[in-house]
Amino acid sequence: MLLVICPHCKNKIELVFENLFWTDDEKAFYKCRSCGREITDADRFNMLLNMDCEQLKELKFPVSILFNALYSPFVSFAEIVQEFKRDRTDNNKFESFAKYWLGKGLEEK
Ligand SMILES: [Zn+2]
Repeated sequence: MLLVICPHCKNKIELVFENLFWTDDEKAFYKCRSCGREITDADRFNMLLNMDCEQLKELKFPVSILFNALYSPFVSFAEIVQEFKRDRTDNNKFESFAKYWLGKGLEEK
């Protein structure tokens, strides 16, 4: 589990897909699990920059396969939502979305 610091409440939080929200006009934002306030892509970028890298040493698998897309500064919240919407109608595709975009099934046991 990788923790980042919420810019609002300063608590350490894990970025999970379940806390990503979106509107009908394709806007997406993240809600802090701790304080419930909105986190934007720009906030997230700073959160990732300030992430405590000591955590990475404890991971056993190559880091690249453990990150879900929420930890990638190169993918916006809206892009993750678009990918989710495109794949969720097809079970096989959804499985690959879960695997490659959310890192599900690849996490440390
Ligand atoms: Zn917070």
